[in-house]
This record gives sequence, C-alpha cells and structure tokens, in this order.
Amino acid sequence: MPLVSGTSLLTNAHKHGYAVGAFSVDHIDSIDAVLRTAEELESPVIIQTGQATLKHTRMSYLAAAAIQAAKETKVPVALHLDHGTGFAQAVQAIRCGYTSLMFDGSRLELSDNIAITKQIKQAADSLGLPVEAELGHLGTRGKEDIYQLTSPEEAEWFVKETQVDSLAVALGNIHAAYGENIAIDLDHLQIIHDRTGIPIVLHGGTGIAEQDIQTAITRGVSKINIATEWRRATLEHMRSRLADRGFNDFFALIPEIRETISGIVRRKIKLFGSAGKA
Ligand SMILES: [Zn+2]
Repeated sequence: MPLVSGTSLLTNAHKHGYAVGAFSVDHIDSIDAVLRTAEELESPVIIQTGQATLKHTRMSYLAAAAIQAAKETKVPVALHLDHGTGFAQAVQAIRCGYTSLMFDGSRLELSDNIAITKQIKQAADSLGLPVEAELGHLGTRGKEDIYQLTSPEEAEWFVKETQVDSLAVALGNIHAAYGENIAIDLDHLQIIHDRTGIPIVLHGGTGIAEQDIQTAITRGVSKINIATEWRRATLEHMRSRLADRGFNDFFALIPEIRETISGIVRRKIKLFGSAGKA
C-alpha cells in the first residue's frame, strides 16, 4: 500500500499499548529487509533516515526507494525524517514524500525550539503529518556531549505550546550504545507521560535493557528507534566473512546482510508488541 501518515501508526500504538519500531535505513536492501520482515509479522512499521545517512545518500533517492517498497508491501509503512535540522529540511522531506517529521531543537534555547517546532507543525498539519520534537539532550556514545534529562515541567509547557504529536525524551538512554544494558528512569518517564499525555519516543533503543523496553511501553512509549544494532551486526558479519582472504563473492554478502538485518527487526517487532497489529 502507499506510505501512510505516521499519525495513524502512532495513535494506534499509543491507544493499544504497543510501540512501533522506527528502523533507520541506509540503502535499498535495508529498506527491503525491514519491510519484508514487518510484512511477515503483520506489523506496522516506520522506516527513517537520520542525518548521518543523509550525508551519504540523497534524501530524494532514499524516499523514492521507500515509496516504491511501501507500495509493494501489505502492512502500513511510514517514512520518517529523524533528527530534522530545521524548517528547510522539513519542507525538503515533505516534497520528497516523507509522511512523518522530527525536528530536533534540543540544543537550542527553549523559545527557539518552540518557535521552529511550531512553524514545522503548521506545515505538517496542512498535510496530516505528525511532528516529533525532542527535549532534554541524549548525546551519543563516544562523543563528548552534555547529558540532560528531560524536564517534566518543560515538557508539559512545550507540548501545550507546540501541539507536537510525539516527544523524544532523555531518561538515561543514549545514542549509539551497543553491547550495553542501559537502565532508563522509568519513573521519570511515567511523570513526563502523565504531564504531556502524548506518545513518547525512545531514541537509542539498541542500548536499553529488554525488560525496561517492555515497561516503558506500558508507560507511554509508542515509537522506539533502532539503528546502531543492525549497523554493528552488519559490520561484524562482514568482518567475519572478509577474514577469509579467499572470499570474493560480493553478491553472497547482500542476502546475508539482509538476513542479519531481518533477524534484528524480527526480534524488536516481537519485543515491541506490534506483531499482528497491521
Ligand atoms: Zn535519536
């Protein structure tokens, strides 16, 4: 079916107590691996492109591939802009056919974050697309950065002002954490969700303990981002294959990488409770 607006995926997940996986995709094979796995599990799914990906591959190419792949998929798929940089990129994404937007103004002054989020929300509203914002600051493993938990008071005020559809929060979760079991502050999550009442988004989903993910979903988390886990698994798979100096079958790697991605997506969709919800 054609790409659907992220709004229906988010509101259904929020209402029925599960989370939709938002899988970062970097190329045609990752798009296809995610969609075929979602289809196999009859799960709604979000594919998203982040800023690191967009540095290497044109947004228009990725969007065209995602649009066509979704058409050939039986489950609802939304295409999401992850960590959008501002109004201009939001408009570019809308033109390319994205159906869900994030603006990350978490490094800005609160008043500037509110002003730009409002502007993007106004454009997105006219097309029935949801906007995700971020408050607090997550940072990335391995990069020097200040960690700032999301303030519940600020979150409540921000959501009232901007009318955003979902909010990415910092609860101890961190980008690019791999092979770790990071505990998140689930009480803090509960307070933020009680005060805002909107779907909460967890970034850095790879590093969070599975039990915490399940509890977080019962406390308002409706979208969980996964990127690092399958990128690292892909690298590890390639490393083990290429360690054999006699290996030179380029095309053998492609289905193997797809299967590596599918294995992770399958496990996440089951963990998030979205299987059978398409
Ligand atoms: Zn993120």
